[in-house]
Amino acid sequence: MKEFDTIILGGGPAGFSAGIYAARSALKTAIIDINMMGGQPSNYLELENYPGFSHIGGFELMEKFEEHADKFGIEKFPMQEIEKIDLISNPKVILTKEDEFRAKTVIIATGAQPMKLGIEGEKEFVGRGVSYCAVCDGAFYKEKTVAVVGGGNSAVEEACYLTKFADKVYIIHRRDALRADKIVQQRAFNNPKIEFVWDSVVKEIKGSQLVEKLVIENVKTHDVFELAVNGVFPYIGIVPNIDFINGQLEQDKGGFIMTDETMKTSLDGVYAVGDVRHTPLRQVITAASDGAVGAVYAAKYVEETKSVEFIK
Ligand code: NAP
Repeated sequence: MKEFDTIILGGGPAGFSAGIYAARSALKTAIIDINMMGGQPSNYLELENYPGFSHIGGFELMEKFEEHADKFGIEKFPMQEIEKIDLISNPKVILTKEDEFRAKTVIIATGAQPMKLGIEGEKEFVGRGVSYCAVCDGAFYKEKTVAVVGGGNSAVEEACYLTKFADKVYIIHRRDALRADKIVQQRAFNNPKIEFVWDSVVKEIKGSQLVEKLVIENVKTHDVFELAVNGVFPYIGIVPNIDFINGQLEQDKGGFIMTDETMKTSLDGVYAVGDVRHTPLRQVITAASDGAVGAVYAAKYVEETKSVEFIK
């Protein structure tokens, strides 16, 4: 059994930032992650809106976060799947396949993952033409035709990235205006390899061994047509990674965890930070900011509840 003042679930920007602030508040701190450390930004090609870095690769930035956290002696437990968690008890108890962890406070920073289209062919063709990571799989589409679904920052940025490899990139969007930041939109509009398919939704992904075409419906005219593509990248938003919570915390309609301005959840000693919480903006900087706030208030909680001494 391992005991800590605070255990942070998730080693992305929110988790590392929380770790740095918790350790600097003299809390014995651990970070547990189901995967390797780094979180979602590890897959981002580059960021140009994290202050201090006008251009930096997502993986490189997360390496810097991790190196920084390492300096404060935070214990890291990657590749740990949570089997059971009791956030109500005191101490909080976390059981993974490998170990039992106990902590006075838990900071949930498990982030989010790509939302699925939920259409026929999507599951079947994952790894055979359906991908949720242009940075990982883009190079497979050299001189090919691909489609990106969605109109947010992710869809439009990744479509631009895919033009490095593909001859043609369709952006299929359900409306006639993009949600992405204006500067990102402009890049796509100026890119001759990108063609927009407006007011349209993908109904089905078809192929034999590999993806060959998409069945698309124009939501205004209800025309249904097929589009020949070699690959499709859905970028239609994110869902929180909260499977382990089991109804112990208050969540919004989308499942994101509700917090107050100190990042406290509906339970004492439990905080949620970054993309996993109900928040109006999900960026690396806001995740890092959440982490700082959550850790400072977790430290205050540990200080104020000194009577709950279980760590020798
Ligand atoms: P998002 O901003 O929520 O955009 C999702 C897009 O998918 C929207 O255009 C939405 O259409 C569309 N959509 C949603 N459900 C759909 C469905 N079932 N079928 C078809 N289209 C659907 O998601 P995101 O682009 O993944 O970004 C998530 C967050 O990360 C955002 O806050 C974003 O700003 C941030 N982010 C930032 C950066 C950066 O700053 N470098 C990069 C990537 C992401 P509607 O527009 O009609 O709703």
